[in-house]
Amino acid sequence: MSRRIGITILGSTGSIGVSTLDVLQRHADRFRVIALTAHRDVEALFQQCLIHEPAYAVMADPNSAGRLRDRLQSAGRPVEVLAGAAGLEQVAALPEVGYVMAAIVGAAGLLPTLAAAQAGKRVLLANKEALVMAGPLFMAAVREHGAELLPIDSEHNAIFQCLPPTFATEGLDAVGVRRILLTGSGGPFRVTPLDQLLDVTPEQACAHPNWRMGRKISVDSATMMNKGLEVIEAHWLFGAAPERIEVVIHPQSVIHSMVEYQDGSVLAQLGNPDMRTPIAHALAWPRRLTSGVPFLDFTQMAKLEFQAPDFARFPCLKLAFTALEEGGTAPAILNAANEIAVQAFLDQKIRFTDIAAVVQYALEQVNRHAATSLAVILDADAQARVAANNWIAARVGGRHE
Ligand code: NAD
Ligand code: MG
Repeated sequence: MSRRIGITILGSTGSIGVSTLDVLQRHADRFRVIALTAHRDVEALFQQCLIHEPAYAVMADPNSAGRLRDRLQSAGRPVEVLAGAAGLEQVAALPEVGYVMAAIVGAAGLLPTLAAAQAGKRVLLANKEALVMAGPLFMAAVREHGAELLPIDSEHNAIFQCLPPTFATEGLDAVGVRRILLTGSGGPFRVTPLDQLLDVTPEQACAHPNWRMGRKISVDSATMMNKGLEVIEAHWLFGAAPERIEVVIHPQSVIHSMVEYQDGSVLAQLGNPDMRTPIAHALAWPRRLTSGVPFLDFTQMAKLEFQAPDFARFPCLKLAFTALEEGGTAPAILNAANEIAVQAFLDQKIRFTDIAAVVQYALEQVNRHAATSLAVILDADAQARVAANNWIAARVGGRHE
């Protein structure tokens, strides 16, 4: 029996997936890749299978699964290829898997991430959308099934590092926390004149000043919807009321977030902006591992700046706070409408500034309910997608000009 920890990476071909494999390769004596998954990029997953030799590979798209199976067979590789949502859930819950990296982008990540929690795994959570959609359900599954939840999102990983381990059982008040200070760079349009935002292109929106990420989260960073989703994520992960979470713009992305205590102390986690640090932290916790990230050189750091976010520039951030305060299925509606709007912007069907309008429209159109079951949440998600697509169809038809 191998004593190495078995790992499934959901979304292994993405930005977080690739960074995870980089860290794992540095510690092949400790970890073993059991399963890799992708949406429909057959070539990328095929190449990863050659290098990392997983027992399973899953393509969410069934046609792609057939093509991957053929390629692996011709190459003489004994990898079992699974397909679709069922395949993703299966590899998230395999008995030989100890840790699951949840790095699928968007709502598609919810069910397999939930399956990992229900199987009592250590869940390394990058897929913030799962928690935004189904926070209470997801946290209950973690508790009921004895899963370990380690945040990968750099801000939440930083906050986790600045909290005492007892926060999860005792609550933030008992451990003396006053506020959580969630930092964000402000993205590529922090100082762009507001009237120029009308005409920004997908390439400009995806050119983040400090982080290299997938296209969806890059656009979310440019609208600051990403920070809004992270406020909701922090609410569920840390049991923090919305008024206790403050967003602080910090353009250099050296401080990854902070926790302020009642006695006036503020603890911060610092490091170069490279996701391999939170990934290594979550893999090793409560110990530490090398990550390949260059160490900070304080003598080269010019200055660290901070400012308050401007809701007029970043209406999506405001919408996310509103959705969190409204509760129930409102965050799921916000998330789904945002996914549709971001894709439409990337496809050049709508303007950058339309993203907030689409989300606001969906929040107004779709009835909110208490988020009591997965069925209710998935229904809210589906309805929000319809509402968002209606707005976009009308826009493309010229009625929102
Ligand atoms: P990405 O677009 O680079 O990769 C997404 C991965 O998910 C790919 O492997 C893709 O094949 C897979 N995928 C996409 N659609 C799918 C579907 N419908 N079904 C199954 N698989 C699908 O995204 P990313 O930047 O790696 O982000 C992944 C997640 O991590 C997101 O939730 C993001 O918010 C979060 N995150 C990313 C970063 C970062 O630095 N990239 C930082 C913090 C949090
Ligand atoms: Mg983040």
